[in-house]
Amino acid sequence: MNNDSRCDMIAKNIKVILHNVAEAKASCGRESDDIKIMAVSKTVPPEYVNFAVSKGFSLIGENRVQEFLQKKEYYVNNAEIQFIGHLQSNKIKYIIDSVSMIQSVDSVSLAKEIGRQALKNGKCMDILCEVNIGGENSKSGFSPDSLADAVYELAQTDGIKVRGFMTIPPKSDSPIYLEKMQRLYMDIKAAKIDNTDISVLSMGMSGDYVDAVKYGSTMVRIGTGLFGARQK
Ligand SMILES: *Cc1c(COP(=O)(O)O)cnc(C)c1O
Repeated sequence: MNNDSRCDMIAKNIKVILHNVAEAKASCGRESDDIKIMAVSKTVPPEYVNFAVSKGFSLIGENRVQEFLQKKEYYVNNAEIQFIGHLQSNKIKYIIDSVSMIQSVDSVSLAKEIGRQALKNGKCMDILCEVNIGGENSKSGFSPDSLADAVYELAQTDGIKVRGFMTIPPKSDSPIYLEKMQRLYMDIKAAKIDNTDISVLSMGMSGDYVDAVKYGSTMVRIGTGLFGARQK
């Protein structure tokens, strides 16, 4: 595929995504809600990420530290970057200054190290706790049962602010888990825990974002549905 035709495809996909999100919002009375659409950039060359940014998809999700470090100098500077991939403690220092949120916080110890690195850099990092809503062995994240206690503990940690939750539900029976995650989010949000500001439910990818909007998602993360099938 040459550059122009890939950009044409991305432009078409953007229209489809905006249409689908608007329709999903209308179908459940969420017309006035602001639902963020994240462009998930793994394996996508920066020129196409920048094209999506130029079309208004300016929130970028990065999965891999190494790949991000190679690409970031090529990104247009009005892009907002958030980290969504598995993160090792020793790599936090490479991204702490260039992302606005870390969504993939899967343990208390990782969150505390993010807090330490953020303080060193004179900032407070917004985080989402990743929730393993389906209890799958193959996925990382807090178990639903341990989530509330973890949020109370992280609320006491300097250098981070818990803003909500991110999840990747099991592929089968997705709506059951979307609903379970919605309830968990609503319950913990309603507790109004001091030093937290829980208003983000990052849920829904190319295959399930329409359903996710119906179950209260405030941010959908779309890769293949936007940029096309991944090569690697
Ligand atoms: C890859 C990825 C996505 C996007 O997945 P698609 O199915 O390509 O839309 C969303 N969230 C996370 C955490 C990812 O790793």
